[in-house]
Amino acid sequence: MRLLYTTVRLRFVKNAKHVIVVGAGVGGLSSAADLARRGFRVTVLERAATPGGKMRLVDVGGRGVDGGPTVFTMRWAFEGLFAEAGKRLEDFLTLAPIEVLARHAWRAGGRLDLFADVERSAAAIAAFSSRADADGYRAFCERSARVYRALAPHFIATERATPVSLVARLGPSGLPAMFRAAPWRTLWSSLGDTFHDPRLRQLFARYATYVGSSPFLTPATLMLVAHVEQDGLWRAVGGMHQVAVALQRLGESQGATYRFGAHVESVTTGGGRVTGVQLRGGERLEADAVVFNGDVAALASGAVGGAGGATRETKPADRSLSAVTWCLSARTSGFPLLHHNVFFAEDYADEFAAIFGRRTVTAHPTVYVCAQDRGEAVVPDGPERLLVLVNAPPDGDTRALEPGPLRERTFELLSACGLQVEPVAEVVTTPVEFEALFPSTGGALYGRSNHGVLGTFARAGNTTSLPGLYAAGGSVHPGPGIPMAVLSGRLCAARLELDLAGGRGRVSVASK
Ligand SMILES: Cc1cc2nc3c(=O)[nH]c(=O)nc-3n(C[C@H](O)[C@H](O)[C@H](O)COP(=O)(O)OP(=O)(O)OC[C@H]3O[C@@H](n4cnc5c(N)ncnc54)[C@H](O)[C@@H]3O)c2cc1C
Repeated sequence: MRLLYTTVRLRFVKNAKHVIVVGAGVGGLSSAADLARRGFRVTVLERAATPGGKMRLVDVGGRGVDGGPTVFTMRWAFEGLFAEAGKRLEDFLTLAPIEVLARHAWRAGGRLDLFADVERSAAAIAAFSSRADADGYRAFCERSARVYRALAPHFIATERATPVSLVARLGPSGLPAMFRAAPWRTLWSSLGDTFHDPRLRQLFARYATYVGSSPFLTPATLMLVAHVEQDGLWRAVGGMHQVAVALQRLGESQGATYRFGAHVESVTTGGGRVTGVQLRGGERLEADAVVFNGDVAALASGAVGGAGGATRETKPADRSLSAVTWCLSARTSGFPLLHHNVFFAEDYADEFAAIFGRRTVTAHPTVYVCAQDRGEAVVPDGPERLLVLVNAPPDGDTRALEPGPLRERTFELLSACGLQVEPVAEVVTTPVEFEALFPSTGGALYGRSNHGVLGTFARAGNTTSLPGLYAAGGSVHPGPGIPMAVLSGRLCAARLELDLAGGRGRVSVASK
């Protein structure tokens, strides 16, 4: 029976339409697996040597350090992808739940842990600040959960909406939650009503940076990011890069093939639509459709030949945050690091005024530290693996940022909060290197920012103006972050299938 199934499937796949996926980032990998499971013949072409894109493993003195995403949320988005292919996520990837979401410390004083359990966090906030702020936190959790529940099926897990179509989709059951979140106000201003302690306002405002934006410019609806983390946070055992490996293995199990070191120089066209791609070196491959997983800015800018102008341009002023990261193998002392740690300086407003206004890094930036070995069964005795990250302006295509002085300020803040770091080996990545890895972005890591009431709606969708050319990944709808990129890949696969079948209507995936 199994042999018969395999023979029939192979014959079907042989005659199936060919789709080329350009890029093995999370969105490309998700799209490839979903397309292959839908019966397409799928070839993934990735210019790097390994899958993952921003989810990359950086070689630091012979040790692999995760140099990209570290926060794993919205597990359901991954489970849905695997389940639809008849597989179980846990057979491909081991995830361990994280009980303490993050440890926060302030130079001015104070340390606060947030927990997966709301009441535990509320008790910690009451002890750290006041009972009023603990109540404010409970109300904030409820509000952000309502916004998330309204937007998950009608915006996040379905095709791009306009403001008008979103209102229609939300209807009388979803609109009250949106209005209570006051999308016309900024996240920062809304948090001022909730928390009296300025440190708490700063802590919860930081969630805007998960989508590469400033809390002083994003609408208050972005509070839903806080709910996403509250709803469940996991650690990928063996490191985050294992997530990319698992996605590739899923695609392979569905028949997709992968080529690394394959740089797509241009898409080829004929008869007014895409006919395939041309690789650096001249090789041509034919396809019925192409999914582009690089930043859509590369399509608009003409960096991918043949596709110039296929999507709307992302102006440098609209780009999301970039970062300076240090991947370290280091001895640490003086501060009880957890897996996720955030160190705050005092002038939060200047951090974003500097990046999005003066196009520089403030004198006292917030520092995120992922202590990647913390939470594994054994914390290493010797040097441990760290990712240290500071937000930066996305100008890697026009100016270089001198990391030396910034490094001093960064490690000085850590030291002021009690953490001593003695690196054994380190690799720094600035917006210039991020631009080289992810062309036409200036080093912006999350596509365009979500600034302004309409910013979220300005993100490109999965289709382009060139028939047969699609886009998937964090630079397009529903937005950045690894679960969103997975959803984007899935929406793209569903759209592509419907288009090639000549169907009509809006595509969605199941959401939680
Ligand atoms: C430092 C850092 C920290 C982050 N932290 C988090 C976090 O904690 N949690 C979270 O959810 N998200 C986080 N993110 C964001 C998250 O990593 C991204 O949103 C997500 O990985 C983007 O995936 P993508 O599908 O857009 O593909 P990308 O990762 O952008 O990959 C695109 C791929 O396409 C390839 N490509 C591009 N052009 C071509 C071409 N012409 N030919 C062949 N291949 C091409 C590239 O080489 C690349 O591999 C972080 C990102 C960074 C960099």
